[in-house]
Amino acid sequence: MTATPDSPLRLRPEIAALPPYRQGRPAPAEGFKLSSNENPFEPLPSVVDAVRNVAEFNRYPDATALSVRERLAARFGVTADEVLVGTGSVALIAQFFLAACAPGDEVLYSWRSFEAYPGLATVAGAVSVQVPNRPDHGHDLDAMAAAITDRTRVVIVCSPNNPTGVVVTKAEFEAFMAKVPADLIVLLDEAYAEFVTDPDAVDGRELIGRYPNLIVLRTFSKAYGLAGLRIGYAIGPVAALDAARATAIPLGVTGPAASAALASLDAEAELLERVAVLAARRDAFRDALVAQGWPVPASHGNFVWLPTGERTAEVAERLFEAGLVTRAFHPDGIRISVAEEAAIEPLLAALAPLAPTA
Ligand code: PMP
Repeated sequence: MTATPDSPLRLRPEIAALPPYRQGRPAPAEGFKLSSNENPFEPLPSVVDAVRNVAEFNRYPDATALSVRERLAARFGVTADEVLVGTGSVALIAQFFLAACAPGDEVLYSWRSFEAYPGLATVAGAVSVQVPNRPDHGHDLDAMAAAITDRTRVVIVCSPNNPTGVVVTKAEFEAFMAKVPADLIVLLDEAYAEFVTDPDAVDGRELIGRYPNLIVLRTFSKAYGLAGLRIGYAIGPVAALDAARATAIPLGVTGPAASAALASLDAEAELLERVAVLAARRDAFRDALVAQGWPVPASHGNFVWLPTGERTAEVAERLFEAGLVTRAFHPDGIRISVAEEAAIEPLLAALAPLAPTA
C-alpha cells in the first residue's frame, strides 16, 4: 500500500484508479433517460402502499430478509437456505467475488458485458479475465471454457447479456457446464430473465439443483420496477450462499425493500403484462432499426444494442442533442433502453440519417 500521486493517503492504488460507476446524464426536461435499463412504468399502488405500511424505521430490518427468501423458495421449489437476498444483484455479485477470490485469483467473463464486473473484481483483489464476445455479440463459451485456469474462482455468464441483449441458449449453457470443473462457481446473471421471449434461451429456473456450482442471480430492479429500492436475489447451493452472506455488509436489505418485493410477487401477473408490452416494443424497435440499416442483434433484455464502433461518441451525442440519453460504450456501441413508447419515434427519427447504409 503506497500513497497515490494525487493523495498523500495510503490508498490501494488500484482502487484509487477505479473510475466511478457511471449513471448517465440526466434527461433534459422534454427528453427521455434511456441509459439505465429502468422500467418506465410507475409503481403499482399496492406496492407503494406496502412500502408506506412499513412504519418501524426505528428498528433494524430482518438481517436475512426471511419473508422474501421464503416466498422465493416456494416459487422456485427450493428451501429458504438456498436463497440469498441482497441490496440488488450487483451487491450479490460483489459478495460472491469476495467469498471466492483471494488476491490474484481470477474472475472470468465475456466482454463486453455488465460494466460493474471489472470494478467489483478489482475491489475483491481479483484479476479480470475478459473473453471477447463473438462477432454476433453473444458469449463465446468455448473460448471462455478454454480460458479457465487453476486461478479461476468465479465464471459469470450473463444472459441476456448487458449491453448486447444476446442470450446464451440452453444447449450452449449445458455444453459449457460440462466443461467447467465442479468446484468452480458459475454465476448465471439473469437480471433481464423476465424479458426473454426466445424458448431456446437458458433459463436458470430450469437448472436449479442440477449443478453443485451454479448460482442463479435475479433482481427486482428491472421487470418488477424496484430499481430504487435495491433488492435482488441468488439461488444456489447453501455453502456458497453462506460464504457470500458472510461477505455482505450486514442489514443492507431494508424493510421497505422487502415489503415491496413481496407486494410485487403478489402483483406478478400485472407486472409481467407490462414486461410483455416492453418486450413487444423492443422487438418492433429493433425491426425498425434493422430496416434503417443498423445491424442490431436480436435482444432479449429491455434494451437494444447499436454497434456504432468508432462512431459511438458522435452518434450518442446526436441522440443527446435530440433529448435522448443513452449509454455509450466507446468504441463498441450504444445501449438504448426500451422504455417509454413516446421515445421510439424520436429515436428512429434521430437515427435514420445516421444509419450505416444511409
Ligand atoms: N446484472 C446485470 C447484467 C445488470 O445489467 C444489472 C443492472 N444494470 C445488474 C446485474 C444489477 O442490478 P441490481 O443491482 O439493480 O439488481
